[in-house]
Amino acid sequence: MKKGCLIVVSGPSGAGKGTVCGDFLRAHPEISYSISATTRAPRDKETDGVEYYFLERSEFERMIRDGELLEWAEVYGNYYGTPLKKIEERLSQGQDILLEIDTQGALNVMKRFPDGVFVFILPPSLSELEKRLRGRGTDTDEVIARRLSAAAGEIAVAKEYTYTVVNDSVEDAVRTLSAIVAAEHARTSNNLDTIDGIIRNKSGISEGKEA
Ligand code: ADP
Ligand code: 5GP
Repeated sequence: MKKGCLIVVSGPSGAGKGTVCGDFLRAHPEISYSISATTRAPRDKETDGVEYYFLERSEFERMIRDGELLEWAEVYGNYYGTPLKKIEERLSQGQDILLEIDTQGALNVMKRFPDGVFVFILPPSLSELEKRLRGRGTDTDEVIARRLSAAAGEIAVAKEYTYTVVNDSVEDAVRTLSAIVAAEHARTSNNLDTIDGIIRNKSGISEGKEA
C-alpha cells in the first residue's frame, strides 16, 4: 500500500500556523492532525485530547524514557512532544498526517523521516508578527517579548525546510499548503508501485481489448 505523507509545519509563534493549519485541515478532512503532548497549562477554550494532551511533567518524562515520543523539545519552559505510535499507524495505513511542531523538534524529525515534507510558515515581517501576537490576546507582555526575541533565530532555521510559505493572506497560505501536499503525492518516488503496477498489467489490458 502507498504510504501516507508526513507533513511537518513550523514557524515562529504568532506567524499564523494554527490559523493556516486549522483552515487547511477543515478543507482536507482526509488528513489527520497529530495531537502533541505538553506540560503547559491549557489556554481558555483548549480541551485535553483536542489541541494537546495536557500532562504532568512526571508523565511526560516517563514517555521520553519509554521511547513513546517521535521527538520532544522544551519550548518556553514547557515540554512538547509528538506521540510516535499514531504516526506510524496512520502512515502505514496510507493516511497523511500533519504535525505542527517547533524547529528543534522538526530538525529531529528530519533525521528520522527524511522523506517528510517540511513547511515553514513565515510572517510577512517581524513587526507584523508582533502585531499578531498582541492582537491574539492570549499571552502576557513578558511571554510576547520572549516569543519575539526567539523569532529571528527560529526564522533562520527556515532554510533547512523543504518549503517556505509567507502567511500574508490566510487564504493564499492555505492554497499554497494544499498545492505542496498535492505535489508531494505526485512525487515519482511516492508512485513507484503505481508505475510498476501499470507496467505489469500492460499485457492484461491489451489482451482484454483484443478479446
Ligand atoms: P501561531 O499558531 O503561529 O502561533 P496563530 O494562528 O495563533 O499563530 O495566529 C496569531 C494571530 O494572528 C491570531 O490572532 C490570528 O487570528 C492572526 N492571523 C493569523 N494569520 C493571519 C493573517 N494572514 N493575517 C492577519 N492576521 C492573521
Ligand atoms: P503553543 O504553546 O503556542 O501551543 O506552542 C508553542 C510552540 O510549541 C509552537 O512553536 C509549537 O509549534 C510547538 N509545539 C507544539 N507541539 C509540539 C511538539 O509536539 N513538539 C515540538 N517539538 N514542538 C511543539
